Amino acid sequence: MKKFTSLFLTALLLIAPCGYVSAQSNKEAATNLKSINWDQRHTIDFHESLLKNLSDQYPKIAKTYPIGHTWRERKINAIELTSNTKNEKDKTGIAVIGNIHGNEQESAESASYTAWWLATNYDSDKKVKNILDNYVIYIVPVMNPDGYAQSFIYPIRENLRPTDRNGNNIVFSDPYKDTDGDGIIADIYVGAKNSAIKDRKKIGMESPDWDKNGVFGDDPKQSNIDLNRTFDYLWNYLDVDANPVLGGNAYTRAGSNPAAEPEVKAVQNFLMTKKIHALATLHTGIQCVLTPWCNTSEKPKDAEFMEKVSLDMKNALEKTTGRKFYAKQSYDDYPTSAEMIDWTYGRLGIHSYTIEVYAGGKSNPNGTIDEQCTWENELPADQWVYKGEWNGVKDVWFKNTSKAQMVGVAPSEQSKMVEGAKDSILTMIYSEPYGPGSEVPGYLLWGNGW
Ligand SMILES: [Zn+2]
Repeated sequence: MKKFTSLFLTALLLIAPCGYVSAQSNKEAATNLKSINWDQRHTIDFHESLLKNLSDQYPKIAKTYPIGHTWRERKINAIELTSNTKNEKDKTGIAVIGNIHGNEQESAESASYTAWWLATNYDSDKKVKNILDNYVIYIVPVMNPDGYAQSFIYPIRENLRPTDRNGNNIVFSDPYKDTDGDGIIADIYVGAKNSAIKDRKKIGMESPDWDKNGVFGDDPKQSNIDLNRTFDYLWNYLDVDANPVLGGNAYTRAGSNPAAEPEVKAVQNFLMTKKIHALATLHTGIQCVLTPWCNTSEKPKDAEFMEKVSLDMKNALEKTTGRKFYAKQSYDDYPTSAEMIDWTYGRLGIHSYTIEVYAGGKSNPNGTIDEQCTWENELPADQWVYKGEWNGVKDVWFKNTSKAQMVGVAPSEQSKMVEGAKDSILTMIYSEPYGPGSEVPGYLLWGNGW
């Protein structure tokens, strides 16, 4: 039944006339900020108008502004939340960055929810008043709006740097398209009608083969770049050898140069102009809180402090959501370089945490720690649909993967998830100030006679 419901919703969301879903959500956010349904999947337009509506309706404590633009000229919006009770320089700076990975949409929901919760509770909740009187909270709910928007068609992690995957000198020349109108982009296979799954051969992704090269969907709208491997700190470190020690990201996932992507440049430049004590970057895929370093098992200078805080943040997530989370140094989870938290801690000395808010599916209590920590929800099973002749090819099968079916569908109890993320962020906020806060090197500062 659950499966049917989510499939039905997927179809409904995607078949509905363009803008229907976002128009409804935006209107709700615009007219009544109290009636937002946090169990729903929200479009990029929703997140943008939510911040605008919050700053329109709470002008004394909220300001919204773009900190940069994407390849598609979408705005990367930040909301700044603080009261005017004391001088900003006497306050503690906190940053929350959501959705560096486009398909990790629950991270954007968590960040937007936190902004919404702080703004709408300032007048009624002493705790919130106390926070905004003493802290400046900068929240960027969607750092990768191009990837976020694209993920309503097919889930992609990347941004939309113009890319030519199939080498025909035209960027994005064969994007995915829902050719049969079921709301799902299928993996395309061939195999006889009575064939076993293992005997079917994958020939591409659902697309009319726009570029007529005989391969379906071989130049989709995604860049190959993982923004969270492109920060200007140990960029490609240990990745450039023939046998890379880390992820082998040189010149591929890590881009052409450190901080070459507009989204990363925007966030780096923004953080360099602010005095910030702590930062959380939000993700999905596992359920945990991770601390620097990502590139080495060595302990950073503030390891003891950050480990304690990350444990408290993990406990807050567990208490509020009723699900299991873990806390670790990021390297011990898996090694990477040029991640945001290594840049923010390594360059600026900001206490930095990666919060992974959601891993879909049922847990395996006897498995590895990440297999034990999941959202405990039911995901739709992969579906195989025999299509016969399709686009001039005989014996075509559509495989609708679980993740393709989940496009546009929020996980069950997402409202609990965003509440948990908010409580974890509050825990981080209360842990500061500890130490001097970020130290921006003089050569990185703008103005000041440089
Ligand atoms: Zn991620």
